[in-house]
Amino acid sequence: MFDRASVVTPGGVNSPVRAFRAVGGTPRFMVSGTGPYLTDADGREYVDLVCSWGPMILGHSHPEVIAAVQEAVSRGTSFGTPGEGEVALAEEIVARIEPVEQVRLVSSGTEATMSAIRLARGFTGRAKVVKFAGCYHGHVDALLAAAGSGLATFGLPDTPGVTGATAGDTVVLPYNDLDAVRAAFAAHPGEIACVITEASPGNMGVVPPAEGFNAGLKELCAADGALYISDEVMTGFRTSKAGWYGVDGVRPDLMTFGKVMGGGFPAAAFGGRADVMAHLAPAGPVYQAGTLSGNPVATAAGLAQLRLLDDAAYAKIDAVSAELRSLVGDAFTKEGVAHTVSSASNMFSVFFTDQPVRNYDDAKKQEAFRFTAFFHSMLEQGVYLPPSAFESWFVSTAHDERAIERIAAALPAAARAASEATA
Ligand SMILES: *Cc1c(COP(=O)(O)O)cnc(C)c1O
Repeated sequence: MFDRASVVTPGGVNSPVRAFRAVGGTPRFMVSGTGPYLTDADGREYVDLVCSWGPMILGHSHPEVIAAVQEAVSRGTSFGTPGEGEVALAEEIVARIEPVEQVRLVSSGTEATMSAIRLARGFTGRAKVVKFAGCYHGHVDALLAAAGSGLATFGLPDTPGVTGATAGDTVVLPYNDLDAVRAAFAAHPGEIACVITEASPGNMGVVPPAEGFNAGLKELCAADGALYISDEVMTGFRTSKAGWYGVDGVRPDLMTFGKVMGGGFPAAAFGGRADVMAHLAPAGPVYQAGTLSGNPVATAAGLAQLRLLDDAAYAKIDAVSAELRSLVGDAFTKEGVAHTVSSASNMFSVFFTDQPVRNYDDAKKQEAFRFTAFFHSMLEQGVYLPPSAFESWFVSTAHDERAIERIAAALPAAARAASEATA
């Protein structure tokens, strides 16, 4: 299948992070998923710790989500008119996340961040955008500078195809460094439209914001008249019922969502202050649109998933994450592998270093070659990890004791492989 794919698709994949370029080998082609398990085209079963990079927070093929999708599909797949499902999903988001007074639905996280930035520029009449090295906000031209995710995995500094004019208004700063943000506002007073940050970064591995960092960003933005945009595409509806906002309570002007809210379908959103959102067409002059935005099948899946994500569900996910973090840490300690299990709520990843990781430069100093050996040993033993040392691991409510036992059984040999690996 990979040979066939490589003939008709660049690199054989439709999103670079799915390729095994960073770890070597052939990507597995999955044919089905149930609960915490994926089955590949050769009939091998894996415990899934990618969960489609976040969306499958209830595990695969959750019966209530599937039923909602089937019911929606039976009524038609797209109308190009308003519909009740998109209103219900918007109401659910507004009810959960207090700073979101109004929300606009789109089809991908990339669209959400792209549109939020356009809106911030339109609202403020300013051009410059501040982002942080190692934060990924989708493949928006202006935001690909020093982005994490696949660019971190493949060590790509930036990307050809983004012109100097497009990237010229992007100011890239080191993460967790408020002095650098202060200096940027001092250097460009009244010119910065917004600061965009991952609410808690998961695209350079998991690197949580230092105490007071997000609050400091919010304060510096407010003092200069810039907007504070919190990208919750990954953390939204995952790190708590109200995402990372539910964890740190710092009130953004605009927020972006995706992944979990689509229930495995293409649905994403941006929203926030009503006076800012009022600038969006057709209410205001900032244009933004989408043929499939608010798609009835995607919104049915997302709504069914969000309605199942109650306090008990988050308690379960947090407990699974805590158990895995301790199992993983113990396995590396036993083999004498220098490591840091870095976590933010229930998101976590492993850095192969015992030094603190506070930003992208720190993350890049890890011994990533050890991850390659670890990854392949886990894969051989039927555990599917993100094929990169710079990505978060994701768990779901479906990760039960049996799934955790299978991971625990695979860890000793994989930790040994990591310890024996050479650069
Ligand atoms: C995944 C992600 C995006 C991009 O979302 P897509 O749906 O892949 O376009 C944006 N921001 C963050 C923080 C993400 O994790």
